[in-house]
Amino acid sequence: MFDYLIVGAGFAGSVLAERLAAGAGKRVVVVDRRPHIAGNAYDHYDDAGVLVHKYGPHIFHTNSREVFEYLSRFTAWRPYEHRVLASVDGQLLPIPINLDTVNRLYGLGLTALELEQFFAARAEKVEPVRTSEDVIVSRVGRELYAKFFRNYTRKQWGLDPAELDASVTARVPVRCNRDDRYFDDTYQAMPKHGYTRLFERMLAHPNIKVMLNTDYRDIAGEIGYREMIYTGPVDEFFDHRHGKLPYRSLRFHHETYDQAVYQPAPVVNYPNQHLYTRVTEFKYLTGQEHAKTSVVYEYPCDDGDPYYPVPRPENAELYRRYKALADATPGVHFTGRLATYRYYNMDQVVAQALTLYARLCQRSGADAPRTDDHGRDPRVLSAAS
Ligand SMILES: Cc1cc2nc3c(=O)[nH]c(=O)nc-3n(C[C@H](O)[C@H](O)[C@H](O)COP(=O)(O)OP(=O)(O)OC[C@H]3O[C@@H](n4cnc5c(N)ncnc54)[C@H](O)[C@@H]3O)c2cc1C
Repeated sequence: MFDYLIVGAGFAGSVLAERLAAGAGKRVVVVDRRPHIAGNAYDHYDDAGVLVHKYGPHIFHTNSREVFEYLSRFTAWRPYEHRVLASVDGQLLPIPINLDTVNRLYGLGLTALELEQFFAARAEKVEPVRTSEDVIVSRVGRELYAKFFRNYTRKQWGLDPAELDASVTARVPVRCNRDDRYFDDTYQAMPKHGYTRLFERMLAHPNIKVMLNTDYRDIAGEIGYREMIYTGPVDEFFDHRHGKLPYRSLRFHHETYDQAVYQPAPVVNYPNQHLYTRVTEFKYLTGQEHAKTSVVYEYPCDDGDPYYPVPRPENAELYRRYKALADATPGVHFTGRLATYRYYNMDQVVAQALTLYARLCQRSGADAPRTDDHGRDPRVLSAAS
């Protein structure tokens, strides 16, 4: 008899498995219908021997010391600050937009103060700021919006930014200095030996059994367990009773080139050309040295694996109906990005899983977590970032 059946071996399921097994002495079985652990963070060596991310580039960044320290139990890190260039008007320019982006695009020599004035002179007053278009146009004006954001967003989402929630473009900052880092989080690093290795170490506990190539519905009736932790799509759990929750998907086209370097940055965005949105060259991310190089092209599409929940009010309303069903389902805990229909970064999913673990432990005194293997009470880990 298992204490928990955990559906999904991504960050949500694996963190919970590790905590429940190592922190609370529970017996858990983790099932995933894919042939590998690590969920969307899965990486592997391709035929040429280059370490690649199967489901697109995964860059780790967080402001949460707790999350970083927790994951550090399972991996050493390689310091890494992510940088992206955008192909606009025949040039490769830094994105997020910064001082160099504007100066190089227009052949100017503005200072940081002058750039602030440049933006202010072009920004359009929009109130209230509701859509993704509003966010950018009210900050930098319509021309930069058109060059860097409008077509990229249309390609990525199949919708005009004017039809999308403000949250989509609000994630991308605009800077008046020369800082060209894509993220400004306190902790920015990549797992030194890759994500899959990190997951292998997380799941290597005698109380954890992992079953791959297994849909939970095929085995749920055959194995004994007390409770379920479900990290798959919430609408699927309820047989799409209220209809399908819309997702945007991606087709990944992986290529290996017989040259050491393919492009001048880890990621090049193509807002206005091509059907793909961006190209990632993995060796920048992993630090691997190799005579060949591997890249991935991302083609947004409607059909395929569920990657990005589409942030529109009617979808949030549909999710609320599924959440009501989930809340009324005893013995099943819904967590992770698919089960809560939210785009979360990896660190947010880890924080969410640690919070659920603390809640499960607090339900009864008998179930209280033991001090973990590092002598700390795991309940101090809180959701953050
Ligand atoms: C293209 C892309 C790029 C990203 N880049 C970044 C990044 O740079 N930085 C960052 O922090 N985050 C990034 N993310 C987000 C990151 O992938 C997620 O935060 C993380 O994978 C979420 O973990 P999870 O466990 O919730 O979900 P998942 O990793 O999706 O794991 C869920 C697992 O459940 C399994 N499953 C579902 N249903 C069933 C079933 N019925 N039976 C058995 N198994 C089932 C699935 O096979 C899957 O393996 C990116 C996401 C995408 C799509």
